[in-house]
Amino acid sequence: MDSTFRRIPNIHLQDLINGLLQGNRAFLSRAITLVESKRADDRKMSAQLIDKILSSEHKSLRIGITGVPGVGKSTFIEAFGKMLTSLGKKVAVLSIDPSSNRTKGSILGDKTRMDELSRDPDAFIRPSASGLNLGGVASSTRETILLCEAAGFDVIIIETVGVGQSETVVKDMVDYFLLLMLAGGGDELQGIKRGIMEMADHILINKADRDNLKAAKKAKEDYKNAVHLFPPNEADWVVPVGLCSALEKTGIEDVWKEIEKYNKHSKTNGWFEENRKRQVVKWFHERIQARLEDSFYSKPAMKEEIRKREELISSQKISVRKAVEELFS
Ligand code: GDP
Repeated sequence: MDSTFRRIPNIHLQDLINGLLQGNRAFLSRAITLVESKRADDRKMSAQLIDKILSSEHKSLRIGITGVPGVGKSTFIEAFGKMLTSLGKKVAVLSIDPSSNRTKGSILGDKTRMDELSRDPDAFIRPSASGLNLGGVASSTRETILLCEAAGFDVIIIETVGVGQSETVVKDMVDYFLLLMLAGGGDELQGIKRGIMEMADHILINKADRDNLKAAKKAKEDYKNAVHLFPPNEADWVVPVGLCSALEKTGIEDVWKEIEKYNKHSKTNGWFEENRKRQVVKWFHERIQARLEDSFYSKPAMKEEIRKREELISSQKISVRKAVEELFS
């Protein structure tokens, strides 16, 4: 390999763009590493890269998948992804996992968990960036989506664990949000909050197989009833409740049929475009806030000024209001 390609900053921007637009995975990987980088020179190049590829945006469908650990997300994505590539689609799988740390081993994005898919030439699997907070992961994932689109991927799957605030973050970057559930155990046991169910465009009960089939069918009816009681969603979409077995590969095609139906429905009624517009505006404001915070906390001596005031306010020598005013004066 050309030695100039070893380090990201040494890649000529135009070479990177050309490779990316040709769908070359090695270039895609490098481009993702670049947008994940926190180095100042990399950031500058990332901004130029994203700017250049924006107009060449390939049309894709972004699907978020969530559910508690063990529900079968990676087994499902493997089966679903293989089905999509057999239909001639190019599939990228990204993960949002703020707890991820490549050296410790991540709960998500572990390539060995999607063994078959990771060997599929039409699939691309990328774990979440390590060492970033949720906001940082979210921002680089949003840019990674754009890079995958420029590289010609048709379906972008974003996987997250359904236990924290990461669902809201994923919901804000996808066109369709799929919630995987298990039969039995109840919502509380599954750690799924009602709010997450209300965010879903599709509720899918996995492991509907073997001894579990009867319970899964019962759960389907229960969830169907629950969904009827939710307020109507902005997409004017009746949330389907389905069954599948990721292991036995049943019900997988029905999921895709529903997604295609949704795609058509939301494009016809304008929600698809409206939602994407809102998402990008929200992202813009999030970035502004992050930049403001950064520039505030990185001011020289700010750490010490804050520490001093922490003491003063905790011993009630000055008020919180006064301490804040002083820091901004
Ligand atoms: P994740 O943590 O949500 O990604 O879950 P995994 O995909 O790693 O699956 C957790 C466990 O459930 C594994 O042992 C899978 O083999 C099993 N599993 C996943 N899907 C199914 C299914 O449809 N039926 C059954 N019986 N087991 C499944």
